[in-house]
Amino acid sequence: MSDAAATTGTLVKGISELYTPHDAVPNAAMAVADGRVAWVGAEAAVPLPFAGWPGVDLGGNAVIPGLVDSHTHLIWAGDRLEEYLLRARGASYAEILAAGGGIHETVAATNDASEPTLLMLARRRAGAFLRGGVTALEIKSGYGLSTEGELRMLRVARRLGEEGSQRVTTTLLAHVPDKHLPRGDYLERFLSETLPEAARLGLADAVDVFCDEGAFTLAETRRILEAALTYGLKVKAHAEQLTHTGAARLVAELGGVSADHLELATAEDLAALAAAGTVATFLPVAALLLKRPMPEIATVRASGVRVAVASDHNPGSSPVFGLLLVLQLAVAIWGLSVEEALVAGTANAGLALDRPEWGNLAVGSVADYLVIDSPKALTPLYTWGSPSLKEMVIGGRTVWRKDG
Ligand code: FE
Repeated sequence: MSDAAATTGTLVKGISELYTPHDAVPNAAMAVADGRVAWVGAEAAVPLPFAGWPGVDLGGNAVIPGLVDSHTHLIWAGDRLEEYLLRARGASYAEILAAGGGIHETVAATNDASEPTLLMLARRRAGAFLRGGVTALEIKSGYGLSTEGELRMLRVARRLGEEGSQRVTTTLLAHVPDKHLPRGDYLERFLSETLPEAARLGLADAVDVFCDEGAFTLAETRRILEAALTYGLKVKAHAEQLTHTGAARLVAELGGVSADHLELATAEDLAALAAAGTVATFLPVAALLLKRPMPEIATVRASGVRVAVASDHNPGSSPVFGLLLVLQLAVAIWGLSVEEALVAGTANAGLALDRPEWGNLAVGSVADYLVIDSPKALTPLYTWGSPSLKEMVIGGRTVWRKDG
């Protein structure tokens, strides 16, 4: 008898359809113990000892893994409504950034807000993501710029994770050079103070660089990411968004977890990411709102790269509060299949965060799942804006249930 026999757990049954998300299992059951999946398969074939565990019957509702949003800028103050209005009338994101607006506007508002205010704002937004089925999310800094400003954002992100309503990973983001400092001084401060402090305090799981026009060059990006690796942090980049810089291939060369955006990525870039095992993370709301093209889906598929899709939630280029709509857009405007979109917003997003036990319902994975208010598991990706979720479970514990 296996060690599992000694564990008391719960057998979740009466599942009309369960997506792992790679496979669809009809008439499924899932054994959960210690917050993890102990067994999953057909209800008619539940082995001992799981068959003897106390059961919860979902009564013919479907189950999918909790959604994982692997790219968010969740912590910010102020808003960018004026910029949104300007862009809707034709102004470009790069022009606004160059004129001292855009990200710089959010930096000023965020630095003016107190840490409790930032936590309150971020908690509200995280709650909206949870009600949309996001059980885990990555949160970046990048609107502080000073060392203390960045550490403050990372503390707020860590705190949200500790509060336990969702799983959180944190990323120190080199977003834009501080316009109040000579460019070289800002980079030196980031390398000699901001990054080491974030690493020493355990506040960052990863480091990200916005490598683009108006932000950091490829050479600067290399210096930052190579330094991050010496601290044992994972690396990623905002790559090939507004201009093609070579950042995607740099992330692949450095063994990074994810290259994000990739609107201008070439077949060679995607092949390099695939060969390195780096996830390609696409952000269709930012592409849509900034009127950027996305690479041909056939080119992406042919490369064999793992595809994640994330919200890129931020007050400028992607003011979206959840992931389901983003996945629906990836299907509608880009051409992912619905099944691919589900994998992109669950298992592959977990891999983009180097959390292979997130976003899937395999033995040993975290028991984070969504009970769908339908016998068909893909209903939430089909019905736009409808309240299709019935219950969210994180680590085997129900954290949200639809009224009535
Ligand atoms: Fe971003």
